[in-house]
Amino acid sequence: MTDHLDKRLLVVSNRLPVVIGARDGDWTIIPGSGGLVTALAPVMRQRQGLWIGWPGCGEEAPIGALLDRFAEENGYSLAAVPLSEDEEERYYRGFSNEALWPLFHDLLGFCRFSFDNWQTYLDVNSRFARVVSDHAETDDLIWVHDYQLIGVGEQLRALRMHQPLAFFLHIPFPAADLFRRLPWKDTLLRSLMGYDLLGFQTLRDRRNFVYAAASLLSGVEVVRRKRSHDLLHFEGRTIRVGHFPISIDFDEFDQGARSREVEDAAWYLHENLRGRQLVLGVDRLDYTKGIPERFLAFERALEKYPELLSRVSLLQLVVPSRTQVPDYQNLKETLDQMAGRINARFSSPEWSPIHYVYRSLDRIQLLARYRTSEIALITPLRDGMNLVAKEYCASSVENNGVLILSEFAGAADQLGKGALLVNPYDIEATADAIHRAFFMEVDERRQRMRRMRAEIRRNDVHHWLQSFTRALSDRD
Ligand code: UDP
Repeated sequence: MTDHLDKRLLVVSNRLPVVIGARDGDWTIIPGSGGLVTALAPVMRQRQGLWIGWPGCGEEAPIGALLDRFAEENGYSLAAVPLSEDEEERYYRGFSNEALWPLFHDLLGFCRFSFDNWQTYLDVNSRFARVVSDHAETDDLIWVHDYQLIGVGEQLRALRMHQPLAFFLHIPFPAADLFRRLPWKDTLLRSLMGYDLLGFQTLRDRRNFVYAAASLLSGVEVVRRKRSHDLLHFEGRTIRVGHFPISIDFDEFDQGARSREVEDAAWYLHENLRGRQLVLGVDRLDYTKGIPERFLAFERALEKYPELLSRVSLLQLVVPSRTQVPDYQNLKETLDQMAGRINARFSSPEWSPIHYVYRSLDRIQLLARYRTSEIALITPLRDGMNLVAKEYCASSVENNGVLILSEFAGAADQLGKGALLVNPYDIEATADAIHRAFFMEVDERRQRMRRMRAEIRRNDVHHWLQSFTRALSDRD
């Protein structure tokens, strides 16, 4: 049996874990943050790994020198795939974000299927594959990430690379009936079958994929179904398909939330609340996050349960995202109008029902809000995982937060026993859940939160990384 645990890791993702940009005429390289970087960085260092991706700029930047400096300082290397503005537009904004993103989140109405964009997607995927083949060594383990790069594996096979190829999809995989709408479904499925290991976030995503592959692509045979994985045969090869729910560094959030700075910031927030409960929403601006539906549910709760008036406020943080895409600009306008209308309807001189903040917060301010808010209202229409839900629980160090969570977030699989699960399209039921959370007794709050925290602590991001790389070594 080959053991892949000691191999050099070659990670391929759309973005590098750094961003190169021009500031005051000078080129700078800024380290990226986020769960994936935090989880992978120690392993990359330990195995002297290589990360390949788009540095956020084109060929005009002095990329080589900047990346060399990064390697010296960080103990692992980066290789860049620069993109022209036209490629960024068609491959990234066009095909990835206006076709695959909405389709995979079950929102067919937002999809734009353009043949030109699809062609550029394939071209850029081939370019990524060529950069991988230029840098890969015989013993590497190649791990490609996410929907922007599905085609890389098949291209690597065409280049006759024999290293183990793994792929992880961070977003959901839709039901076969929906996936069929994609004009290039066969090519995309065939590309996925180019890998040796396919990882999905949840069992449902994994089943959706296996059913789509078996029913839509001829030559695919399901040879084994187990609890932990399925084995498929295709064109003489075996493909292992599993689910590996991504997570967070529990200790980092738990300890961060207990820090002096966060405690001070939380105390300050609480002082200003004057005995009110805070309901927290934190999302990137995205139509998959269900923010308008959430505003309607909060409005309905105030209307249906007048005892909540003046006693609860919704703090909705929206992090700007994809600001050049028209659907995102429209969503921003909708949210501005809705918050204004609901506030005009219910506000009193000393109370506003909705505090809507459109910007990103630094870590301390974010943790202070996680820690202070008695209720989190996280209601995406569909979400691969939703890390905010896990971060909220990990930061709820007094065990007194109530999580109201969409049943269509991947996180619902693991947190369903502690959270109040809702269908975000069901405004009435979500309003009822807000009421229930508001009046939930302390004992029940603690019991539920303890359960969720234990689950996240056990299945943290390090566990995710280990189980994924271990699956590559398993042969049964
Ligand atoms: N986040 C952030 N700045 C903020 C608010 C949130 O960086 O002001 C982070 C948050 O901590 C979380 C991520 O954004 O790690 C959102 O991840 P999630 O899986 O919830 O949704 P995604 O944006 O990936 O769809």
